[in-house]
Amino acid sequence: KDSRKYTGIVEDCCCDYETVESLNKEVLNPLLQELVTTPFFRYFKVKLWCDCPFWLDDGMCHLRDCSVCECPDNEFPEPFKKPIQNKLSSDDLICQEGKPEATVDRTLDNKDFRGWVVVDNPWTNDDETDNGEMTYVNLQLNPERYTGYAGPSARRIWDAIYTENCPKYPSGEFCQEKRVLYKLISGLHSSISVHIGAEYLLDEASNLWGQNLELLDERVLRYPDRVRNLYFTFLFVLRAVTKATNYLEHAEYNTGNPAEDLKTQSLIRQLLYNPKLQAACPLPFDEAKLWQGQSGPELKQQIQKQFRNISALMDCVGCEKCRLWGKLQVLGLGTALKILFSVDGQNNVAQPLQLQRNEVIALVNLLNRLSESIKFVDEMGPTVEMTMKNR
Ligand code: FAD
Repeated sequence: KDSRKYTGIVEDCCCDYETVESLNKEVLNPLLQELVTTPFFRYFKVKLWCDCPFWLDDGMCHLRDCSVCECPDNEFPEPFKKPIQNKLSSDDLICQEGKPEATVDRTLDNKDFRGWVVVDNPWTNDDETDNGEMTYVNLQLNPERYTGYAGPSARRIWDAIYTENCPKYPSGEFCQEKRVLYKLISGLHSSISVHIGAEYLLDEASNLWGQNLELLDERVLRYPDRVRNLYFTFLFVLRAVTKATNYLEHAEYNTGNPAEDLKTQSLIRQLLYNPKLQAACPLPFDEAKLWQGQSGPELKQQIQKQFRNISALMDCVGCEKCRLWGKLQVLGLGTALKILFSVDGQNNVAQPLQLQRNEVIALVNLLNRLSESIKFVDEMGPTVEMTMKNR
């Protein structure tokens, strides 16, 4: 008898829990796990200073497991050091004549890759222009896991995010767009908690790391909403990746190592054109349902501003490693939002999709982190719940 706890369609999405789990386990997770180890996807450019625009540094930056080791200059790929061209010219603007205002285009035709660019992301706060404050980090050497960052400093960030920038919707009251923002953040929060539980410092003296299933239960499994939001966020980001298929297929994964770069290209194609994914969950999330009402453009600006604030709050995270992964994952979400809602309904003009190399790196790494979380919850959830019940 099927004793699944989560059944039916993931709320606001188009696929069911069981399909997500089997697709993730059999196809997506193995591909993503391999993809993030390639040279293209393992180096992330980031500004790691604590320069919080909201309050003063509270001195939390010095916890041992919080430190990030930056890449020496000779480690990260040579092509990443070359200056990147600036934005496309206004000739590249595409008029969306004849399209009803405020609707969202489900396709991204004729917007293929035209070279990596430095281009603003309206959903995020960071100025991505290369400068001396940016460093490259090898993500494989700095895994997202338990760091010891907790207490008032961490609480202040989550409180500021939830209370000021994406309040939990009173059931049935909020419009769908605001609900989506809340669920994306809550899903990301669940994923961070899952990774803390999956790789926890069990004994400081002997530096013993392992799983903390009680933490997984207390922070995530006990709250079905948090689990559901994790699945939602995964499907949302997966949809952004599949929507950008044309772009991602033609993008340049050049790190100066032809064998590795060919492998990256091949893994990307296997992900984008996966027959099992296309058969089982062809439209993981339907973005065309959003921003439909008369207030669509205004609402979009409001939510964009809230998301930008959340992005700025990442500079207040008082633990370097958490800040690194917080910035990466919020940039990944911002990239997904940019891909899904790139048509500017207000001016009825859309720019061809342009992504920064760092945005694509963040997007794929975020999808991998979410995929890892779903796999862990799927594998450990039933055992943990059984153990807790028998206590
Ligand atoms: P918290 O996780 O701090 O949660 C605070 C409150 O938010 C909870 O009491 C609850 O009311 C609500 N809440 C919790 N989960 C959800 C959810 N999924 N959806 C909606 N509401 C929720 N620590 C590490 O060890 N490693 C990391 O890599 C790491 N990365 C972080 C990244 C960021 C951006 C931030 C802000 C913090 C990070 N932390 C990390 C700290 C970690 O998230 C917790 O804040 C810390 O472990 C203390 O946990 P807590 O039990 O007090 O609850």
